[in-house]
Amino acid sequence: MPYVFDFDHRHPKPPMEMKDLLGGKGANLAEMTSVLGLPVPPGFTISTATCRDYMEGGWPEALTGEVQRARKRLEGRMGKRIGDPSDPLLVSVRSGAKFSMPGMMDTVLNLGLNDRSVEGLAAQTGDERFAYDSYRRFIAMYGRIVLDIPGQEFDDLFEAAKELAGTTSDAEVPTELLRYLVHSYQQIVERHTGRPFPQDPEAQLHGAIEAVFRSWNGPRAVAYRERERIPHDLGTAVNVQAMVFGNRDDRSGTGVGFTRDPATGATGAYGDFLVNAQGEDVVAGIRNTDPLSTLADTFPEVHAELMDIFDRLERHYRDMCDTEFTIEQGKLWMLQTRVGKRTGRAALRMAVEMTQDPRIRLSPAEAVSRITEDHLAAVLHPQFVGEGYAVLTKGLGASPGAAVGRVYLTADAAVEAAGRGETVILVRRETSPDDVQGMLAAEGVLTARGGLVSHAAVVARGWGKPAVVGAEALRISEHQLVVGDVTIAEGDWLSIDGTSGSVVIGQVPLSAADPPWEFYRLLEWADEIRTGRLGVRANADTGPDALQARQLGAQGIGLCRTEHMFLGEDRLPVVRRMILADTPEQEEKALEELREVQRADFVDILAAMDGLPVTVRLLDPPLHEFLPDTGELAIKEATVGLGPEEHRLFEAAKQWQEANPMLGTRGVRLGVIKPGLYAMQVQALMEAAFDRLASGGNPVVEIMIPLTVTREELGLARSWVEDAIEGTSPGLRRRKAAGKGRGKDSGGPELEVLIGTMIETPRAALRADEIAEEADFFSFGTNDLTQMTFGFSRDDVEGRMMSAYLEDGLLPANPFETVDANGVGELVRLGAERGRATRPDLKLGVCGEHGGDPASISVFYDAGLDYVSCSPFRVPVARLAAAQAVLEKGEAPSETTRPLIGSDRSRDVGGRDVGGRDVGGRAGGRTGTRSGGGGKTGTSPKAGGGTKTGASAKAGAPKGRASKKVGPMAKGRSGKKGS
Ligand code: PEP
Ligand code: MG
Repeated sequence: MPYVFDFDHRHPKPPMEMKDLLGGKGANLAEMTSVLGLPVPPGFTISTATCRDYMEGGWPEALTGEVQRARKRLEGRMGKRIGDPSDPLLVSVRSGAKFSMPGMMDTVLNLGLNDRSVEGLAAQTGDERFAYDSYRRFIAMYGRIVLDIPGQEFDDLFEAAKELAGTTSDAEVPTELLRYLVHSYQQIVERHTGRPFPQDPEAQLHGAIEAVFRSWNGPRAVAYRERERIPHDLGTAVNVQAMVFGNRDDRSGTGVGFTRDPATGATGAYGDFLVNAQGEDVVAGIRNTDPLSTLADTFPEVHAELMDIFDRLERHYRDMCDTEFTIEQGKLWMLQTRVGKRTGRAALRMAVEMTQDPRIRLSPAEAVSRITEDHLAAVLHPQFVGEGYAVLTKGLGASPGAAVGRVYLTADAAVEAAGRGETVILVRRETSPDDVQGMLAAEGVLTARGGLVSHAAVVARGWGKPAVVGAEALRISEHQLVVGDVTIAEGDWLSIDGTSGSVVIGQVPLSAADPPWEFYRLLEWADEIRTGRLGVRANADTGPDALQARQLGAQGIGLCRTEHMFLGEDRLPVVRRMILADTPEQEEKALEELREVQRADFVDILAAMDGLPVTVRLLDPPLHEFLPDTGELAIKEATVGLGPEEHRLFEAAKQWQEANPMLGTRGVRLGVIKPGLYAMQVQALMEAAFDRLASGGNPVVEIMIPLTVTREELGLARSWVEDAIEGTSPGLRRRKAAGKGRGKDSGGPELEVLIGTMIETPRAALRADEIAEEADFFSFGTNDLTQMTFGFSRDDVEGRMMSAYLEDGLLPANPFETVDANGVGELVRLGAERGRATRPDLKLGVCGEHGGDPASISVFYDAGLDYVSCSPFRVPVARLAAAQAVLEKGEAPSETTRPLIGSDRSRDVGGRDVGGRDVGGRAGGRTGTRSGGGGKTGTSPKAGGGTKTGASAKAGAPKGRASKKVGPMAKGRSGKKGS
């Protein structure tokens, strides 16, 4: 495979599809040249593969010859030679990776100028000033980018020259001074490198190409790739292109143009233009640009030609394109095009409008595939208006959207300030249930510690409240916050962006969250694509959150964390009393109090999700989040002393203290030592369900046991649950899951209740075949599964070491954000396969935070899961990503992949109810074996069938769960332990 390709090289497929090899810019230059026949200055592209070879083993030997030959061909085409003393050809050398990384890598312009060719340029153009200005720019650019000389030195000299000339305008520096600058710049180069500025054009070209390769690993580029999740090993292509000059005279100019408005999505050309200027002048904003429309007056013919090109580009790319163009003495040249970046609002509008545009005829599936999670987030959450705010520090963007408020450093202070009518940003080292009232009162939350699945992150995300966590540079003391040498006092203004993780001092203006109608249309199409394939539920713990989730399109609740129901000021002490109880009586009393409050909460949630499944997870409190802080109590004891109740709490808390609380008495383990606990919760839930039935509702209940690791453990927990159901309503008829038939009709209350477990440990995934014997469903808890598979503490590693791991390429992405497809993902695939080998109708979902992450959703679909569950505000993103996962696999219903235009759906404006039952894989009709690709294993079971897959398939059929006879609802608790 050659390293170098001319723009008009004949490729086996359209070059625009060859971004892997040619980079985005190179692929589009080749497309414009060879397919569209547009006026593009000739040139050649050095492939991304060359850059990869360079990074591995230095400058490839064969490259020198290939570049020389390509250069000769270019010179032949232009009728000029690079470095020619009489009429030199100048070239630009630009980066161009597969994915656009605007401004992150380097470019060298005006290459080919030297002490002799500058005279040739002056003679040919009859413009000495232009020639010396070009040479001055070239030396500075080459010095900075290729030779690593601080750019400031060149800039300072240029500023001094302007001062000397008595002007503030670059364009007014006289030729004599430009000559002098060229000389001085060359001295700077010699001083820094010990050698004169290179005069040989071949050496110049070699240096510039190598510098562009190097810039792939420059700090800006690495940081950008991390943020945009672009792999570090792709490398960049390099484009060497004949220069054309928009700054030759007043018949010249340069501009950037979009085929539609990238901010609003409105149809019609949009852009900026400058007469007698180079591209960098437009971008740098040194001069005020004119709107593109004024081109019609100043250059009517060029304007008409450009509008025609825009039209052709839109037809050809079937999307909005952005372009850079130059007019050189009346002749139009296209320097670049690509599918343009756009705001969220514009993306939504364009995608929908292009389904109605007869030139473009997008299908709903294509429209859906063009929307990203950022586009949705931009209209779902408030955002900073504009860019470029001075960032004080950064943490992890844990809950999207931006917030502005006054800083308060304790939950109490936050609540008080909010009570006075202030808007508040709560800043804490980390949060615990004690902080929940403060979090509720705040507009946004900022913590110094913790990762994407820390308490602050999970709670804030659940409420759709912006949060930045793990901002390690924060030093928080009693009444102030210090970052480096900046001090922020309580009451000072702070702005946070929970999407990017940025923290900015002061009040940044915010744009309101306001989804346009196209948002809903696109999500309807997404639902059409995924229905029957991948469901979307929400993680919600209260009635209002559940309602919100349903409005955002959730098809049920995949995780109700019951411990979150105890976060209220009045409830936390009761949980503590229950955990710390010394006697059965004390425990019983606390449990009874909890039952009362839980029942009311469950009624609200079941009502909000009426007719849809609600998965209630029995208590899974990481104990350290619920116990009083022993450190604080120790200080209090040593200073002001403790009251008798505090003293008792302190003693008990010390007893319960664990070295690794996240691996300690959590989940079902707490149930094992406090068997009455789960029975109480089930009783409260069943009572709530019967309340709902009595008032004509249709509750659908799924009871979930957390952190199970063995079949025996789940069998025991299941027996408590069964007993508690029986104890609450001895005659209950248990309806089976949708589509699975019904129990015998004996005329009494009928309820759908499933009992299942979370799969959160590697052991549980590996032994899923055994565990499935006791489970009607699995929900993969990928937060804990990630923590335990990697051995990464979910509360600690992200702040401290994750960025180093990402920067050094030790991990491709933060595994708490995007599921580790090959490790954790493999366990999910295995768990799914083995579970269904035992029990083909096993319902499978995921409720870790990954359930709202698009890349992870694709892994889960691949693993054969029935639904994903995520925080309410992620539901739209999950609906979109679920549809995109289906599209990626080519499994979309055909009516969504056909253009709307001409079909009887072309006027379809939707408005359908997105709610509905789980769209289960097996029940819903997903078929076929999926290969995970890339060495992944795992097959998804056949649709609806009972085919067993996997080596560990058990011989026995799934255990039947007998329907129960009708009877009066029993009162009282059933805490009987059994197995
Ligand atoms: C999980 O571990 O993925 C999960 C959903 O449970 P939690 O985050 O509450 O531990
Ligand atoms: Mg968990």
